[in-house]
Amino acid sequence: MERDMVIERRAHVCGAGLAGLTTATVLARAGWSVTVHERATEVREVGAGIYLKNNLLSVLEHLGIADQVLSHGIVLERSQMRDGSGAVLQDHELNGHRRTWMCPRESLIRALADAATAAGAQLKLGSRVVAATPDGVVSNDRGEQFHADVVIAADGVSSAVRESLDLTAHYQRLETVATRYLLPSRTAWPEAITAMHWAGRRRVGVSAVSDDQTYVYLICPADDRVGTRVPVEVRNWSDSFPALTSIFAEIRHHGTEAIQHQYNIVRCRRWVAGHVALVGDAAHAQPPTLGQGGGLALANGHSLAQMLVTRHSDPIDDILRAWERRCRPLTNRTQRWAMSLDKITNRWPAPLLPIRSVLLGVMGRPFIQDRMRAAERFDGRAV
Ligand SMILES: Cc1cc2nc3c(=O)[nH]c(=O)nc-3n(C[C@H](O)[C@H](O)[C@H](O)COP(=O)(O)OP(=O)(O)OC[C@H]3O[C@@H](n4cnc5c(N)ncnc54)[C@H](O)[C@@H]3O)c2cc1C
Repeated sequence: MERDMVIERRAHVCGAGLAGLTTATVLARAGWSVTVHERATEVREVGAGIYLKNNLLSVLEHLGIADQVLSHGIVLERSQMRDGSGAVLQDHELNGHRRTWMCPRESLIRALADAATAAGAQLKLGSRVVAATPDGVVSNDRGEQFHADVVIAADGVSSAVRESLDLTAHYQRLETVATRYLLPSRTAWPEAITAMHWAGRRRVGVSAVSDDQTYVYLICPADDRVGTRVPVEVRNWSDSFPALTSIFAEIRHHGTEAIQHQYNIVRCRRWVAGHVALVGDAAHAQPPTLGQGGGLALANGHSLAQMLVTRHSDPIDDILRAWERRCRPLTNRTQRWAMSLDKITNRWPAPLLPIRSVLLGVMGRPFIQDRMRAAERFDGRAV
């Protein structure tokens, strides 16, 4: 009898990204009728790696797709902070709740899309959602309307659903640019480690991403004209980071495609309006300084779907509000830490750079790291 009640429920998910596909999978496996609207004509991500932190990994394990993702990625052993010359300033083992894997983004999104469709979710490609109403009506750009018990707005940082419901409190494009490359080799970076290199107002992250790929990302202020140039200016970046010259040269040698993004921040008045819930970047986009945008997207999406499934006899809007109360405080704290780290890199006054090194040393201490990385402790059992 209870099962029948669940089967009758219908969710429309806006956006086939990390948050939308995770939520869709859990609901579809519980017997919900799920439609995922994706504006693009295919579900695809290209050209970058992604750090998979403990909270994200716990969700993949709950979904039973962690091994599939790992078959395209790698388990990282250490995380380091280095200066431009390569000297190690911080060194952490990546185990316990700090365990971290890395994989190409494409592999993660593919595994999630496969899980969602195998569970019975319908992917509606080329369907750009333009609005939703609190009573659960979704409209797309083809003039179609759909009625749902729950609308999951997982349509990313520029969420049309969020705007249509006037839920945005603050949306800002930050003055930081990330240029990402996926190098088709591990020659210049053979170890299974990730290292963030700091020099002035620039940073370079380098990480193994699979057996034969290296992920490199160059971060600098938007007004750094040479720094934001594509392809990478080898000599100029080598002046800042002499230890990484061979990596910059390899990027040029392979003609590796660059993916460039400016950081964003989104804060909402509420994550919930009636039968609509904002999930992932639509609700809480943040600078990727802690590698937690995806982690929180999966953790919050998974928690939301689990609460909908296990509390199915409660009114939907009560469940959605309870979910927001449960997940939002940790997400807000993580977002604040991520913002602070971005400020320390890109908006730190040049004359005070020596003090920054001291601050970074203090921030490496366990009691600060534990607070900053509290989101990583999530084990996928939020209900
Ligand atoms: C430079 C950079 C590096 C990052 N590195 C990491 C990392 O290492 N680890 C990590 O955990 N996170 C990282 N992040 C953050 C992470 O990428 C995001 O937090 C995550 O992708 C958010 O997932 P999402 O599903 O909420 O949104 P998205 O991934 O943006 O997915 C939204 C989906 O909705 C679709 N869509 C948009 N509008 C509509 C519409 N109107 N109708 C229908 N469909 C629509 C989009 O096409 C897309 O498929 C990084 C971010 C950046 C910018």
